Amino acid sequence: MSQSDAGFIAALDEAKKGYDEGGVPIGACLVAADGKILGRGHNLRIQKGSATLHAEMSALENAGRLPASAYEGATMYTTLSPCDMCTGACILYKVKRVILGENTTFLGGEEHLQRKGIEVVNVKSAECEALMAKFIKERPGDWNEDIGEQ
Ligand SMILES: [Zn+2]
Repeated sequence: MSQSDAGFIAALDEAKKGYDEGGVPIGACLVAADGKILGRGHNLRIQKGSATLHAEMSALENAGRLPASAYEGATMYTTLSPCDMCTGACILYKVKRVILGENTTFLGGEEHLQRKGIEVVNVKSAECEALMAKFIKERPGDWNEDIGEQ
């Protein structure tokens, strides 16, 4: 479980893609117990005018409709600590662990995940943090909107 995991590399790649599209630079990747990537995606709120397409939701959506067994032992990689909505989705589908890039920019539902028996690992990625800092400096209003703040 580190920054060299294929799932983490994919999530970071998605975050950069989001930045290049003019969106909030957060990426995610859902990896099955056997290591297969089920779905990956990035935050699309700005690109799609969406209320719900955070990175983790995009990854789940791109993985498509799956039986509960597909999430068993799965890992959700995300470049930023998951918000309450994405925390809820991880709990709903009972992923085994959440590996996040950083929680300095934003601290989400990590304690809630742990209380529900989901393992949480922070890989403390300087790259994830720098990408968010750059975006927030450039577009503070868009960031506040993303986390439901005025
Ligand atoms: Zn979220």
